[in-house]
Amino acid sequence: MAKKKWGRLVVAMQCKECGKTNYHTTLNKTNTPKLELKKYCNKDKKKTAHASKEKLK
Ligand SMILES: [Zn+2]
Repeated sequence: MAKKKWGRLVVAMQCKECGKTNYHTTLNKTNTPKLELKKYCNKDKKKTAHASKEKLK
């Protein structure tokens, strides 16, 4: 019997400069409203700010 990972929200991390979705991560949706991280963008070839985009399930 597979255990469900309840309470975790899968979000896309979207580059703020080019809009490309580069990463997926999971958040605890109960206490993480918005997330912003510096990540490497393959399109921009540098580290840019990435904002969480709650979309995926
Ligand atoms: Zn980018």
